[in-house]
Amino acid sequence: MSADTPMHQGMRKKLVSKLREKGIHDEAVLDAINRVPRHLFMDSSFLKFAYIDQAFPIAEGQTISQPYTVAKQTELLGIQPHMKVLEIGTGSGYQAAVLATMGARVYTMERIRNLFINVQVYLKKMNLNIQFFYGDGYKGLPAFAPFDRILITAAIPEIPELLLCQLVIGGILVAPTGSANAQTMTRIIRTGEKSFKSSHHGYFVFVPMRKGKA
Ligand code: SAH
Repeated sequence: MSADTPMHQGMRKKLVSKLREKGIHDEAVLDAINRVPRHLFMDSSFLKFAYIDQAFPIAEGQTISQPYTVAKQTELLGIQPHMKVLEIGTGSGYQAAVLATMGARVYTMERIRNLFINVQVYLKKMNLNIQFFYGDGYKGLPAFAPFDRILITAAIPEIPELLLCQLVIGGILVAPTGSANAQTMTRIIRTGEKSFKSSHHGYFVFVPMRKGKA
């Protein structure tokens, strides 16, 4: 693994300015993006691309989300320190690291065994408050519920009730919903035992959420 050098730090500062220009205003989110060395979450052959605002391939045909997408989803969640957050789709672990850097207690789920295993090798060294689970995110983690926040980082046609039930009242779920080609960023606030309020926040493209484990 390569180190985090002043060159990388400089590149991150530029990335943060770009995200600011693109409309990200939450200073806590920008600070976390500034602190997490994204290049360590990518294959070393892609190092040059770590700090441009693009998604990139990781193992198993999956992707590390575009920094703007990570920033936007995190901003919509409204993360405060100590919140209990469920992330579905660990992938590279970058988004989980951003959430944990903001002080969240992160529970992250991945359905592809190789990704679940590999991510822990380097992420564990960063000493962040992240717990890793191998399983189908459609089911969530009922044994650890309720969560203050739930973040889905794969495209889902519609949000399963099983996940909405795992939110605290007042809790927020953010997910890209819609067809495989393009999704609407959707934020759902649980306003009561059985009441929810949703809003939409632009179009994005994610890899699909799939059922079962692999
Ligand atoms: N958050 C990631 C981006 C993940 S890409 C990052 O920061 O890098 C989406 C991930 O969701 C992939 O790794 C994919 O394997 C995973 N995924 C898809 N369906 C899933 C499911 N049902 N449960 C858990 N993870 C799932």
